[in-house]
Amino acid sequence: MRYFSTRNKEIYVSPSEAIIQGISKEGGLFVPESLPKIKNLGLLKDMDYKNLAFEIMSLFFTDFEPASLRKCVDNAYDKKFTTKEIAPLKEVDGVFFLELYHGPTLAFKDMALSILPHLLKEAMRIQGVNKEVVILTATSGDTGKAALEGFANVEGIKIIVFYPENGVSQIQERQMITQRGDNTFVVAIKGNFDDAQTGVKQIFNDLDFRKLLEENNYTFSSANSINIGRLVPQIVYYFHSYLILLREGKIKDGEQINIVVPTGNFGNILAAYYGKLMGLPIGKLICASNDNKVLTDFFNTGTYDRRRDLVLTTSPSMDILVSSNLERLLYHLSGEDSDLVKALMEQLNQEGYYRVEGMDTDNFYAGYSDEGQVAETIRKLFFESNYLMDTHTAVAYRVYEEYKNETGDHTKTVIASTASPFKFGEAVAMAIGLDIKNKDEFAIIEDLAQATGTRVPKAIGELKSSEILHYNRCEIDEMKDLISGFLKVGEFND
Ligand SMILES: *Cc1c(COP(=O)(O)O)cnc(C)c1O
Repeated sequence: MRYFSTRNKEIYVSPSEAIIQGISKEGGLFVPESLPKIKNLGLLKDMDYKNLAFEIMSLFFTDFEPASLRKCVDNAYDKKFTTKEIAPLKEVDGVFFLELYHGPTLAFKDMALSILPHLLKEAMRIQGVNKEVVILTATSGDTGKAALEGFANVEGIKIIVFYPENGVSQIQERQMITQRGDNTFVVAIKGNFDDAQTGVKQIFNDLDFRKLLEENNYTFSSANSINIGRLVPQIVYYFHSYLILLREGKIKDGEQINIVVPTGNFGNILAAYYGKLMGLPIGKLICASNDNKVLTDFFNTGTYDRRRDLVLTTSPSMDILVSSNLERLLYHLSGEDSDLVKALMEQLNQEGYYRVEGMDTDNFYAGYSDEGQVAETIRKLFFESNYLMDTHTAVAYRVYEEYKNETGDHTKTVIASTASPFKFGEAVAMAIGLDIKNKDEFAIIEDLAQATGTRVPKAIGELKSSEILHYNRCEIDEMKDLISGFLKVGEFND
């Protein structure tokens, strides 16, 4: 299997190279040259999550030895996940919630970030890379913690996370600053998320600094969702959900299902689309946005326009105006026209928008949900069906209801449930009418557990008493110095 750049079809790399590079040198994203077909789903029917993960990933990571890939899978989907099924499927009111948040950081990012470090390590071995890899990440909350948790104590890799001092929730901050692992480094910056992101990009592009790192036997890489090593593991759980439905007799072999995904960077829903191209019987892919509805507008009008203000919502992991992975969809839908994709991406960068003509997006339905609707949906499903969902999942559920009303389509439907309600406890508690005045987030989630007859997940509950291990704070222009200090390079190298 080769991986081509979306912006230049002449450029292709092997699976292990694609994982190490993360992004192609000219800015394109790596896409598989073709999607492998699964002809007989019945053969996978009785597989548990690990076996299924191995089966699917081996079709993509073709330069990995089977035994090594098996080890990556075994190391990823183990007791870190608090449910045996890894991703359980819950039927509520006739729809199926695919709960992707039972990993160590309580958001779906764990599904891929628990395996990416192992894939990266093996990719480095295959490519004979002897350098120590430094993962550099700017985060608005969820990705940072999931990456820290995944890369903590992985030999040969260091991970550095920058987050905005006042831009993450109390629980998200606590999750990061209590992170264990000698190879982890967490820094609050005096600025917002954009400052953190810009700072990281500048460091990536600082050739002198990169040279200094190379001389000290380090090389940079990235753990964000443009890495194909994050995308492929996400295909697995869509097959997994279909096979559960099949095993439980909820659907017949070959019967189509719809899939709803609360979407930000377009990674999770793209993985479902890849599943469809591989032969998974999916009818509609329903793309749900919050008030930052660039994708809804794109699918409904053909124009992608980021020239608007970013709205801060109660589903912050979807507060995004440039959905990076849409580039991959454009590549596939344009008949792999990398010149066109390159031109569109340049226009987006320079003018803030682009328009596509005649692209067939019929596989998708897109809608959005505003803040009032999100709260109402959480409240309604909780009081009517005793199911508590987080704000991101509520965006998806609400858009699904609208889809059903609009189309009358009653195809069996799976909703990607992307975070524990306790991770966004304040908004969820407010939605079901709890009094949160003058309470900190830990008190609020205790109340939430009591009111809903559930338990605070251990990973959040124990944060309150966990030792704080990271006290680093810096100005935006000091980020590089902190990295040098942590890695002991340059003037620190004595
Ligand atoms: C990252 C995230 C999303 C959005 O996923 P994309 O792959 O970026 O579309 C949705 N919900 C939660 C809880 C997330 O952390």
